[in-house]
Amino acid sequence: MHLSMLIDGAFVSGERDPVPVFDPQTGQVLVEVAEASPAQVDAAVGAAARAFADWSRTTPAERSALLLRLADAIEAKADHLARLESQDCGKPLARVQEDEIPAIADCYRFFAGAVRHQGAPAAGEYLKGFTSMVRRDPVGVVGSIAPWNYPLMMAAWKLAPALAAGNCVVLKPSEMTPLTTLALGEVLAEIFPPGVVNIVHGRGASTGAALIDHPGVRMIALTGSIATGAKVLEAASKSMKRTHLELGGKAPVIVFDDADLDAVVNGLKMFGFYNAGQDCTAACRIYAGPKIHDRLVADLAGAASSISYGDRDDPAAEIGPLVSAQHRDRVAGYVGRALESGHMEAVAGGGPGGGTGYFFEPTVIAGARQGDEIVREELFGPVVSVTRFQDVEEAVTWANDSEYGLASSVWTRDVGRAMQVASRLQYGCTWINTHFMLCSEMPHGGFKRSGYGKDLSGYALEDYTIPRHIMIAHD
Ligand code: NAD
Repeated sequence: MHLSMLIDGAFVSGERDPVPVFDPQTGQVLVEVAEASPAQVDAAVGAAARAFADWSRTTPAERSALLLRLADAIEAKADHLARLESQDCGKPLARVQEDEIPAIADCYRFFAGAVRHQGAPAAGEYLKGFTSMVRRDPVGVVGSIAPWNYPLMMAAWKLAPALAAGNCVVLKPSEMTPLTTLALGEVLAEIFPPGVVNIVHGRGASTGAALIDHPGVRMIALTGSIATGAKVLEAASKSMKRTHLELGGKAPVIVFDDADLDAVVNGLKMFGFYNAGQDCTAACRIYAGPKIHDRLVADLAGAASSISYGDRDDPAAEIGPLVSAQHRDRVAGYVGRALESGHMEAVAGGGPGGGTGYFFEPTVIAGARQGDEIVREELFGPVVSVTRFQDVEEAVTWANDSEYGLASSVWTRDVGRAMQVASRLQYGCTWINTHFMLCSEMPHGGFKRSGYGKDLSGYALEDYTIPRHIMIAHD
């Protein structure tokens, strides 16, 4: 197992405390990986700043060629990377192989193409005697900080647009799931010049804090919690760093009475529980119309109860455990408090899945009300709540009544109503008669406390570049 960090093209071990990495399926320690010292973070930022001088002057075609090589190399190592990811996060191996690896390779390939085709306003004489044009130049050193739910994919979302645009990066994976990012370091070192990409490992409060506070970092890109986003903003305010924040979510799912019930139930079974609900777009906050509500609750309870969870190598396993014992206990706390309320019941699941791993039963909570904690807060677990609404106004008001603004969906056979409701929802994405589907060409990112800045799509390239005006006087 490759456990070294990558700093200035060299593989180095952390100089600070070892951090245990657990297998969520068993609760056993897989390995311990020492975290970077502040001096090592400083060395990584310094290497990135030095590399920027040449890297920022490569052509889009040159950067594109390296990103395409990276996508090929990831596919060549797919089995190894998928198994590591499955061990580190506890996910079923087949889900990483079939869902994540192809999307990761596609992300690098998309940005390899997109950077060769950037748009800008037409150059022209907007003042007589002067020609104006717009350049899009890279920002400089980007400090990228990733979460634990899809480690290798979050690394791709961060690295691909930043590198395509000509930035150099210091990437910190989550201390809970560093294994695939460290393994990626071996591949990156073969493809990119020293210093262009650096990987440092460690906890948020130590290594992460050293990175976001570093004066040599010009931009911080975080996918993580709202609390960490606030810390990033605080650190950034000292030196006016650019920030790109992908924070949490609590996706509302509005199901009207005319929706195709089977499609809704199949969709919620997949999109509410995928990755054990550890997904910021998870379809977890369901608002059901008055006539469809009871059938939806009954059918969804059956569907959730049929979800198989268990051994990572079992091809039938649909979901894995939660990432840590602490997180499982946090989810159990939310569910326990909901059940103590007296007006909510678990019509499926409701408790930990047993064994030494961090499993939690796929859970459906019926009878939830808008003010309930389980409706308002992000659980990030395999738990969905169902709330009955009376009319469109109530559904839209409740859906928007959230501090989150990342993803949402509307289920109805009435196209006009779907479009009208979609136009009123304050979320970065609204799916109609589906949920959760992402593609490299379309932007992903939030409103409100879900943060701002887009991952994926040409909009991400814009976020990782600075538009500059160049004006030429004719005489
Ligand atoms: P987290 O905020 O605890 O950690 C995310 C990363 O930030 C980790 O690498 C961590 O080490 C680092 N970090 C923590 N404190 C830090 C500090 N003081 N300074 C610098 N870095 C610090 O979040 P998490 O628990 O790893 O991830 C789950 C959260 O991420 C959820 O809230 C989820 O909704 C969100 N998320 C959002 C998206 C999205 O696209 N919007 C995607 C995935 C996850």
